[in-house]
Amino acid sequence: MNQINHFINGKFTGPSARTAPVYNPAIGEQIATVSLASASEMEQAIAVAKDAFVSWSQTTPLSRARVLFKFKAILEERVDELADAITREHGKVYEDARGEIVRGMEVIEYACGIPTALKGDFTEQVGRGIDAWTTNQALGVVAGITPFNFPAMVPMWMWPLAIACGNTIILKPSEKDPTATNLAAEWAKEAGLPDGVLNVVHGDKEAVDVLLTHPDIKAVSFVGSTPIAEYIYTTASANAKRVQALGGAKNHLVVMPDADIDGAANALIGAAYGSAGERCMAISVAVAVGDIADTLVEKLAEKTKALKIGNGAEQGLDLGPLVTQEHLAKVKSYVGKGVDEGATLVVDGRELTVTGAENGYFMGGCLFDNVTPDMVIYKEEIFGPVLCVVRVPDYATAVKMINEHEFGNGTTIYTRSGGTARKFTHDIQVGMVGVNVPIPVPMAFHSFGGWKRSLFGSNHMHGAEGVKFYTKRKAVTARWPEGDLGAEFAIPTMK
Ligand code: NAD
Repeated sequence: MNQINHFINGKFTGPSARTAPVYNPAIGEQIATVSLASASEMEQAIAVAKDAFVSWSQTTPLSRARVLFKFKAILEERVDELADAITREHGKVYEDARGEIVRGMEVIEYACGIPTALKGDFTEQVGRGIDAWTTNQALGVVAGITPFNFPAMVPMWMWPLAIACGNTIILKPSEKDPTATNLAAEWAKEAGLPDGVLNVVHGDKEAVDVLLTHPDIKAVSFVGSTPIAEYIYTTASANAKRVQALGGAKNHLVVMPDADIDGAANALIGAAYGSAGERCMAISVAVAVGDIADTLVEKLAEKTKALKIGNGAEQGLDLGPLVTQEHLAKVKSYVGKGVDEGATLVVDGRELTVTGAENGYFMGGCLFDNVTPDMVIYKEEIFGPVLCVVRVPDYATAVKMINEHEFGNGTTIYTRSGGTARKFTHDIQVGMVGVNVPIPVPMAFHSFGGWKRSLFGSNHMHGAEGVKFYTKRKAVTARWPEGDLGAEFAIPTMK
């Protein structure tokens, strides 16, 4: 059995006393065992990262960028190897795995521009013979805790910018698909990153709790479910750390009566069922406005039944399995709940079996119609291939419903009216908004983050927000006087 270990101080270390199984969800078999760090193993890793910070924080932004340029070249050569590892442990189809790597690479590209992004500002002559400037300095050791659903991309939202800013980092990836982060750390070393700057420590709550409380951890970036995001935010903030904790989602796609209905239906199918719905930006609610609902549901039903599902390692498929047997059971139980609540199950994918992969954690797309905002399947994040259609009479009802939802990660509107689109982008209480775009994930040079209970903390991920999160500002005021100026007892007013 393949043993997956920690990567600390440039070396693989382990196994730990406690381990967890790693599965290939397409075949339903354990393929590896991952070490789960004890509190003392995590403390040792933090000590390593603290030591490494002393010299890494003295390097120039340009030399740090050059390591990232080399890393990017290595990554481009080995995209297939990384995508294979993602598909094997997560289950998503190979092309989708490649896609997440490319989206992660955008953050590397942004971080390669760190000499520009880190620039402070300077004012000459703020007072007579006095100049002032601000600089952005590294924080120290920072931590990144990441979810299973983007095992390559989400860690790359964090570590490239964290280290480009001069910090050292401990990454704690999901124990369900840990290999992608190990590969990235190994390749970063090959690109010239000094030992101890990027450390990967696998584990569960025991390891995470050390990151949230240890005095040498200065900032915590988290992406995962809302209950854990809230726990991370409250615990790490109470320990005086900077925190950005991104949580779960329930993303709505509004179809206005004037929209291209075929285009909207296609958008919904890809955004609801891609990656088996295991995306924080997946569309899980279609809001049918006015009299288009019957036509929309008919088109969706036809396309949902036609989804091609199987082992993501094979070509030409739309989606693969769910990540674990437990998660599959949870998603199916939500579908049962929806039926009990009185929603109309137009397409039921619960009984799907895939020939040749009968033990895989597969289910087909499920489509609900006549879902209402009081139902559990509307309120909670299902995180599976389940699309709920809610029928509303008008635009105002659609916007009110979305704004009242507990989550506010992403949303989008399909319309041919510039006026309606403009009003929607202004009115909506959601962090990432699309117009005729199914999944409005911002590019790396913008920043990523939701509103309400989809994000705890004030900084979004990556882009300029990432640089802000991983640095602290220092303001300097300087004078080089000729001769003694004498004592000044009034507060300086820079006349
Ligand atoms: P999760 O919350 O179960 O786990 C996320 C991380 O937290 C993992 O590293 C896990 O080991 C750790 N963790 C789990 N339980 C913990 C505990 N009790 N104490 C400390 N650490 C703990 O999330 P997941 O199932 O891996 O990922 C799916 C979730 O992530 C979904 O809710 C999805 O919406 C969300 N997500 C959000 C975004 C976003 O940008 N908002 C992006 C991707 C995923």
